[in-house]
Amino acid sequence: MSIRLSSLQKISETREDRRFVSNVKDKHLSKMYGEYVFGEEAIKKYLMRDAYESLMKSIETGEKIDERTADFVAVGMKNWAMDLGATHYTHWFQPFTGKTAEKHDSFFRLDKKGNPIENFDGKTLVKQEPDGSSFPNGGLRETHRARAYTVWDPSSFAFIQETAYGKVLCIPAIFISFEGDSMDLKTPLLKSINAINKAAVPVCQFFDEKVTRVHANLGWEQEYFVVDGSLFNARPDLMLCGRTLFGNASARGQQLDDHYFASIPERVHDFMIDFEDDCLMMGIPLTTRHNEVAPTQFECAPHFEAANTAADHNQLLMDVLDRIAKRHGLRVLLHEKPYKGINGSGKHNNWSLQTDTGKNLFDGGDDPAHDLQFLTFFINTLKAVKDHSELLRASIANTGNEHRLGANEAPPAIISIFTGDDIQEVLNDFKQGILKDKEGETLLEIDLEKVARIKKDKTDRNRTSPFPFTGNRFEFRAVGSSVNVSNPITVLNTIMADQLNNFKISIDKRIADGQETEQAIREELKLILIESESIIFNGDGYSQEWVTEAEKRGLPHLRSTPEALQHYLSDKTIGLFARNNIYSEAELKSRFNIFIEEYINKIDIESRLIDEIATTEILPACVKYQNKLIENVKNLSSIGLTDEAENLKVLIAKISSNIKAMMADIDKMKEERTTAHTFEHKISAQMYHDNVKVYFDKIRVSADNLEMLVEDKSWPLPKYRELLFLH
Ligand code: ADP
Ligand code: MG
Repeated sequence: MSIRLSSLQKISETREDRRFVSNVKDKHLSKMYGEYVFGEEAIKKYLMRDAYESLMKSIETGEKIDERTADFVAVGMKNWAMDLGATHYTHWFQPFTGKTAEKHDSFFRLDKKGNPIENFDGKTLVKQEPDGSSFPNGGLRETHRARAYTVWDPSSFAFIQETAYGKVLCIPAIFISFEGDSMDLKTPLLKSINAINKAAVPVCQFFDEKVTRVHANLGWEQEYFVVDGSLFNARPDLMLCGRTLFGNASARGQQLDDHYFASIPERVHDFMIDFEDDCLMMGIPLTTRHNEVAPTQFECAPHFEAANTAADHNQLLMDVLDRIAKRHGLRVLLHEKPYKGINGSGKHNNWSLQTDTGKNLFDGGDDPAHDLQFLTFFINTLKAVKDHSELLRASIANTGNEHRLGANEAPPAIISIFTGDDIQEVLNDFKQGILKDKEGETLLEIDLEKVARIKKDKTDRNRTSPFPFTGNRFEFRAVGSSVNVSNPITVLNTIMADQLNNFKISIDKRIADGQETEQAIREELKLILIESESIIFNGDGYSQEWVTEAEKRGLPHLRSTPEALQHYLSDKTIGLFARNNIYSEAELKSRFNIFIEEYINKIDIESRLIDEIATTEILPACVKYQNKLIENVKNLSSIGLTDEAENLKVLIAKISSNIKAMMADIDKMKEERTTAHTFEHKISAQMYHDNVKVYFDKIRVSADNLEMLVEDKSWPLPKYRELLFLH
């Protein structure tokens, strides 16, 4: 029996008894939340008052932690972790592997006399030395110089990860080379958080002198697919690439629109409860779960947090999803486009800025027209995005997102901002110097007894915009589901910090020239608004008209990943990151190298696997079935049914011609791959895109035709209907 058939059998047999039984009776999620986090409460309990205060102050103000405090924190952290049953600790960091990295060390040591003890000190807490040579570094360091450091990031709380057999204390850390260059995604994010604070505080002080800190908030929404584990194992493409490289569309896909918000299938529901419990314990404040648009597609979202913690939590969530799914005999697909013709997955990044006085700078309240501080931050965002839209596009470019952007289910590869009608009216008035009185709130009358009247929102929503304003935040919707959000958020913070710095300089100059502060701000904002208006688009982002219109406006449309990534290397980008102290030129080049090499490698792997699956699985199944037909033709002829035999020959010919086309395209793809491989990576990536990847679809068309011609039970790969509807 083929692995596909045995998987199908296994699912039918075990479906019923796979109930996950929760033993928690009195379940208060708020009590579980943060139980495995060395957060403020635990720190207070396990540290002496001085050390506690000193650590909390460092977390709040960014002040460096002295050695003595680090020693106290280490002891407290170890005691706390051991009380909860942890035996090991690790620096938990985020190199360019797409995953988190950890190397476990135990608290257990032998002292000088050979006696076993449990030990953990400040030095070990602060710094560890993993071998740096095996992590992607984009040419930042020479291979023979292996030394690299992970350094504790006190701004993100340590936590305990639990698996069936043990618990490990995880200490969030940055990862830098021997020379101090960043080799991870967290370091630049932290720097961008500093940059936005430094730039935003002086601008806030035009309005409120009490503001001393501004931080970026992030609330992500994670979309993912779930698939049965045994079917996953029967699909080498899902296993190695996270997406299906073959597969004829299922007769029923998402055309009935019956999955979104529908009741969650029980097996998936159980899985959700299980992973949510783990997440809550580790401090990830998950609040939302629902079915997404495509069959077997789901979403979860937490309450928003400070950007650094939120980014850590999203990385952690992706690990947890993967781990817990296996426990339930399921697999999670985080790829941006696992199935052709079915909606892909994104990760909306809800981003806002908040002061230490508690004001959300993107919240204009009921009367945004009269909130000049809101308008200041809003209009400066328009300008930042307008000036650096290529870089924002580059920050979300990867192989997976290339399938999704512009595919009529996700925003196009053109960056624009949706403001909504109300805010647009405010902006139009502002430009003309009109200041209308506050409008009363609009109530939506519902013509039904007992059903309450509801307050109408100020803005409608727009699902087709890559960067809509959603009332009190911007929602960067174009981010792919599989990525570490640190990169797009670093870019967002940086371009905003840069713009706010420019703004402050202009206002100071106007004031020095004798203008009143408010007048200076209004006039400057008017200018900025006019300069950046072309980034606003409130229509249907999926339409062809928008593509034409955007081109007319001169907005960049970067369709492919290699094209988008080039913008990391422009003088504009190098200057931006250097000015704001985020990346040196060498660091930036290393990112580009890493991203472009990842692109080449992934397309290369897909190409090789397409060849392998077609040649070793699809072709043999077709030949076998074809022989069966040929045998039948002979038999029909032998009893004189020649017309029937002729009919069957037509089917055989169809199979043959598809096999021929498939194999010929594979040969051509291989040739192109060999050629693309000989060029340096910048050119090579574009060639992989233009010349190699184009064969993927051609080969697939023939293979998918064959799937419709060959008898069902001989088809080797689980079919779309099984992947999408069996759970
Ligand atoms: P929807 O799918 O309707 O956009 P969700 O509830 O799925 O809404 O997700 C909204 C996300 O936005 C959540 O992660 C939420 O915490 C986040 N969010 C809400 N307010 C803010 C804010 N001021 N800043 C950043 N994120 C926010
Ligand atoms: Mg959303």
